[in-house]
Amino acid sequence: MSFCLKCGQQGQILIPEGDQRERLVCASCGHIHYENPKVICGALVTHEDKVLLCRRAIEPRYGLWTLPAGFMELHETMEEGAARETWEEAEGVVNIEQLYCMYNIPRIGQIYVLFKGNLQDGQYGAGSESLECGLFREDEIPWDELAFPSVARTLKHYFHDRQQGQFTIHLETISS
Ligand SMILES: [Zn+2]
Repeated sequence: MSFCLKCGQQGQILIPEGDQRERLVCASCGHIHYENPKVICGALVTHEDKVLLCRRAIEPRYGLWTLPAGFMELHETMEEGAARETWEEAEGVVNIEQLYCMYNIPRIGQIYVLFKGNLQDGQYGAGSESLECGLFREDEIPWDELAFPSVARTLKHYFHDRQQGQFTIHLETISS
């Protein structure tokens, strides 16, 4: 059972006039509750030859390693969102260098936007959403303990591109 976010009355699932998709429509006030994909902003943050990873202190994927990333907030840019998440999760200041990876994840209605940047002064800590944070060389990456497919993909792109000496933008769809 779903209720109207505007007036609290019971809603019903139907295709509104002129629409092609089912929506939650309030039977009382007529409000149409549109659900659209959410944007997740984050950063692949480097220092010297290492990458910054955070071990999650929250569900889902508690205890696994991730890149600093999270839901974009209203009134911020994607770059600001990536920098904010880097501060909140790793207590580090990222100097954004470029847009790096974008992932469609249609199954869960998410879009990932990941920037590449460097860690200012190499300084970091661990925010409240992280058990710990760390800088990892390529041969130190805990590949079997990464939280999300997007993290593994981004790290693979990074080490591959670094070897090639060229960082191109990667736009991909994660369907699993
Ligand atoms: Zn309503």
